[in-house]
Amino acid sequence: MLKTVVYWQVFLLVKYIFITGGVLSGLGKGLVTCSVGKMLQARGFDVSAVKCDPYLNVDAGTMNPYIHGEVFVLDDGYEADMDLGAYERFLGVELTGLNNITSGQVYQRVIQEEREGGYLGRCVQIIPHVTDEIKRRLRLVADKTGADVLLVECGGTVGDIEGLPFLEAFRQMRLEEPRGDTLLVHVTLVPVLDAVGEPKTKPTQHSVKELRAIGLQPDLIVARTEGGPLPDDPKRKIALYCSVEEKAVYSSVDVESLYELPLVLEEQGMGDVVCDYLGLKDCAPDFSEWEDMVRAFKEPTETVKIAMCGKYAELADCYVSVNEALRHAAAKAGCRVQIDWIETEFFEEDIRQVKVLEEYDGVLVPGGFGQRGAEGKIIALNHCRTRDLPFLGICYGFQLATVEYARYVVGLEGAASTECVPETPHPVIDLLPEQKEISELGGTMRLGANTVILDEGSLPHKLYGSTEVRERHRHRWEVNPEYWERLEEGGAVFPGWSPDKGFKEILWLPELYFFLGTQFHPEFKSRPWSPSPPYYGLVKASLDRKRGKPRPEF
Ligand code: GLN
Repeated sequence: MLKTVVYWQVFLLVKYIFITGGVLSGLGKGLVTCSVGKMLQARGFDVSAVKCDPYLNVDAGTMNPYIHGEVFVLDDGYEADMDLGAYERFLGVELTGLNNITSGQVYQRVIQEEREGGYLGRCVQIIPHVTDEIKRRLRLVADKTGADVLLVECGGTVGDIEGLPFLEAFRQMRLEEPRGDTLLVHVTLVPVLDAVGEPKTKPTQHSVKELRAIGLQPDLIVARTEGGPLPDDPKRKIALYCSVEEKAVYSSVDVESLYELPLVLEEQGMGDVVCDYLGLKDCAPDFSEWEDMVRAFKEPTETVKIAMCGKYAELADCYVSVNEALRHAAAKAGCRVQIDWIETEFFEEDIRQVKVLEEYDGVLVPGGFGQRGAEGKIIALNHCRTRDLPFLGICYGFQLATVEYARYVVGLEGAASTECVPETPHPVIDLLPEQKEISELGGTMRLGANTVILDEGSLPHKLYGSTEVRERHRHRWEVNPEYWERLEEGGAVFPGWSPDKGFKEILWLPELYFFLGTQFHPEFKSRPWSPSPPYYGLVKASLDRKRGKPRPEF
């Protein structure tokens, strides 16, 4: 009896908020999702979030990050859409592969079921079989996470053919779940045409019409606006034509720090309306810690300049987590950070161009793949080592720092990674043994969170305040064990390793001001209230050096 009661209560508590987007992509739908989650968390509710991605890839790992944006690695090794990074950074929750549903996964499972005879005698169709599978996955996440509210964001824009099965599944769920337990938030754009200077609501009206055509009616509308919040008139117009209450139309305005958006929407009353519509017993939101945090991002006036050395093509969305980790670190160090992209291929064309780095307080070489621009990265980090410029190398950056050290300090002429020069006489960076046999490329790297042991008294130990940490990985190559001794005898210090001692995880040059490389990607675990230690190290060292301190102070 007790069991039934408990089960029933849990069942009743799950609410779903679906988030769709209209008019354009890139309106910050993910940030609205995070903001709604934050407003609920501020009221004491447990939330989790799911991203539905209509593409046919099984995960984001095989997609082109230059087009689709960063691949965000989760603790369990799943290679997720970058929106999951935003969810983790805003909500402080640890997500798993279940939180990212792609059409690829859904169809793969349905087709596998069909081959196994699971649908014998029936014609397998998008409705109900594909939509059932989507609903099953959504309910599974709700169940597994035990969240009070599950946020479900649909990638793409309403009207895309690919997104239809997901939207149809949302429609069915709105009918199947108890009335009042689901909500639909639609994010649109309200442009202002210069000639008229008036916010135009027509695109929003059209995209809601599109939603209605597939049986979905939004409950709340968030309009991405330019140049300040929507005036009352267009707001009333949206409410009237889109059939939502006036109090349920909000403006997502430009914010100085992304982390401000939940506060901006809260101020417009969105949190109370969401709770009211979902029948969640409202209590006063507590945003005090979040507000303090946002202040720490906005208050500093001193700026540290960091050069990100890579390929221009990798710009923008490819390194969202790296950029965010630098910003988190700056807020903790009490400064701002200016991140400039430096194309390393220029250094290959003319080595004198590397002088540009002298204008910077610190340098970061992020993760990457392939030969192009790699020699330029080596030139950049040679400059950092020989000029004692604060440096942080992530993954590929760590590997190339090891190559540079092997070549120019240890004297191993022609040392390289076999990723760039397969026939190198000194393969200091080589394929992981288990990678040599692999032919499939999807989900086959060394992926996810692994324990890293840190040497007592080393800089990483000091930065992390612990001798054992867990960080996320995504790589195929590693420091070749056959070269460990020669590198260490030559003065390289590797103060971090895997518990079985099979991998070198960190390179540290202790005689320099700040020179660190990590085989793992600490940016994936950086949170605005708890910055990643290696990133904090780089920003703090860059600031201290700029201020003329003889040693960085941690
Ligand atoms: N290309 C390198 C490897 O696969 C580094 C990967 C990365 O930087 N994420 O090992």
